[in-house]
Amino acid sequence: MKAVVLRAYGGPEELKLEELPRPSPAPDEALLRVRACGVCHLDMIVRSGMRSRPKLPLVIGHELSGEIIEVGAAVTDFAPGDRVASINYQVCGECKWCRVGRVSLCMHPRGEIGQVRQGGYAEYVAIPRANLVRIPDGLPFEHACLGACCFAPPYKAVRQVGRVRPGETVVVTGASGGLGMAAIQIARVSGARTIAITTSQAKVERLKALGADEVIVSRDGTFGDDVRKLTGGIGADLVVETVGGAVFPGPLRSLARGGRYVVIGELTGKPVEINLALVILKEWEIYGVESASREDLNEILHFMHRTALQPTIWKTMPLDAAAEAHRQLTNREVVGRIILKP
Ligand SMILES: [Zn+2]
Ligand SMILES: [Zn+2]
Repeated sequence: MKAVVLRAYGGPEELKLEELPRPSPAPDEALLRVRACGVCHLDMIVRSGMRSRPKLPLVIGHELSGEIIEVGAAVTDFAPGDRVASINYQVCGECKWCRVGRVSLCMHPRGEIGQVRQGGYAEYVAIPRANLVRIPDGLPFEHACLGACCFAPPYKAVRQVGRVRPGETVVVTGASGGLGMAAIQIARVSGARTIAITTSQAKVERLKALGADEVIVSRDGTFGDDVRKLTGGIGADLVVETVGGAVFPGPLRSLARGGRYVVIGELTGKPVEINLALVILKEWEIYGVESASREDLNEILHFMHRTALQPTIWKTMPLDAAAEAHRQLTNREVVGRIILKP
């Protein structure tokens, strides 16, 4: 099979198309013909060796969907021909948190697809059955592959822990990033009024086209007063945070009484100050949200399908353009996702 193989950490040029033997599935795995694989910022971090250094050679890519062509002997609930997407990491399945379905808190995580095992930059990949979710009929592979990494945190932030209701106001910080754009879309189709915070005037029109009712251009944490003005002094019912400490105190200054503040991104690690008396007096709820379980992914894929949500896809490219895709991402030419179609 054709696969993009990383044999040394470094720049995009280290991603090279090679011929590899087709994997065969273990008893608890399924072999997928990969139909789509998102190119994520995490892929660039893995490729560069900046954070962790998984064993090489490696086929990266964790945002994958495909068609099952073979199942291992112990797999009884999937069959060849099934269209599936995968959650992007492996868990133990046995610890306290796995047993109650909160697998993103697994105490013995086994690592990410595309790091501890072969990923989706290939024609075929073997994936544990415990990772797979059926794709609803009619939802394209290119959309389904984005369910777990791209849409899960904003979905959980807006719908599950944020519990947004039609007519409520949702503020999204870092709205022109991948998580931010998804949060705007999910909040909009959930019936909320959306206020997008972005650093760039050039992105205002794109955010409005995506469904933002208002866009505030702000390079620091001073947007809270603007949000209050736009909401008649009341503030937002939900703030979805994709930037973190760098935009404080904007998010809390934006928050209404009884508001929910959900953190899904923290870019700088800058600690923040919170006056806890305000948390009491205003009955604020503050949450953090991590990645998707299979149940989450199943719910998200149906949500994407039923609401006809259109992920922002910059372009689709063949497998041999993986290096070029990474180059474009590095040069910040990309808005939304590049999808590889092996
Ligand atoms: Zn990703
Ligand atoms: Zn576990």
